[in-house]
Amino acid sequence: MSAIIDLRSDTVSKPSDAMRRAMAEAEVGDDVFGDDPTVNRLEAMAAERAGKEAAVYVPSGTMANLISVMTHTQPGDEILLGDHCHIFNYEVAGAPRLAGVQTHPLPNLPGGGLDPAAVETAIREPNIHTPRNPLLCLENTHNRCGGAAVPLAEMDALTALAHGRGLAVHLDGARIFNAAAALGVTAARVARDCDTVSFCLSKGLGCPVGSLVCGPKEFIALARRNRKMLGGGMRQAGILAAAGIYALEHNIDRIHEDHENAALLAEGLGRHEVFHVRRPQTNIVVADIVRGTLAGWLQAFRREGVLAVAFGPARMRLVTHLNISRGDIEDALGRIARTAGAVPA
Ligand SMILES: *Cc1c(COP(=O)(O)O)cnc(C)c1O
Repeated sequence: MSAIIDLRSDTVSKPSDAMRRAMAEAEVGDDVFGDDPTVNRLEAMAAERAGKEAAVYVPSGTMANLISVMTHTQPGDEILLGDHCHIFNYEVAGAPRLAGVQTHPLPNLPGGGLDPAAVETAIREPNIHTPRNPLLCLENTHNRCGGAAVPLAEMDALTALAHGRGLAVHLDGARIFNAAAALGVTAARVARDCDTVSFCLSKGLGCPVGSLVCGPKEFIALARRNRKMLGGGMRQAGILAAAGIYALEHNIDRIHEDHENAALLAEGLGRHEVFHVRRPQTNIVVADIVRGTLAGWLQAFRREGVLAVAFGPARMRLVTHLNISRGDIEDALGRIARTAGAVPA
């Protein structure tokens, strides 16, 4: 059996030998005391990349979003967000449960953005009956919208509207470097008018673990308290942060390769009439199944050593990442061709 081609997520990527060496050699200290020079350096680099004053290193993207929501709000507030966003769908309802906020989902547009008119309508008039609306959450790239890179003009319209009505904006930029590559700008430009932004090191950047929350200095100081409360204060975390530094230095410029591989994969999949595939904007390929069952297809792929995940009742998701080469995509397409006639209706 040839090697597994794992396209379930970009989170399955494994640290390279060079990244592991950087981790092994990291200078460390107790980060809860602020003493870990490697964490401090990663936080400074992340803040600079994001175009914000400061940053705090956290274990996961889920905790990054929860800390951000918690720090922007008080219990009993209401946050506005897209109905397909990660915070609303895939974070175990942490925002309502742990930050005590009500989530008000607005229909995401197919391109991952929101209709400004819908946002405008959703912002409540302050009175004795209504929850406060201190926060609008955006996501770029948008995972459930197929890795869509939300255009800057749309982001700018939404941030201007939110700020005009006194709302802060948090950007879930788990894949912000994919967005930046697709839009042809820096991550700092993507996040420019967002008050805070979180991003993952553990996806397209190839780290084993870690995310950052970036924003104004006073916000990050409060976020650090909330990180400690949630159990995210880590001690000699420089061992992990060293991977992040390595990734920021080496793994951003190559991200366009993942987008090229995703385009090649989408094109090849689309040649089979059973898969309806939209052209991907970044590293996420979404394929709708028009015959057979999703479970049947996923199993047939698996038998050929190609791993994908369910992404809806008749939809699968395949994600390219830095352990997947162009050759792997060609190989995967060859294996998929062997399954394409094989699944019963
Ligand atoms: C993966 C992801 C997260 C959460 O990241 P974890 O590290 O898996 O907790 C948040 N937002 C988006 C858009 C994601 O894709």
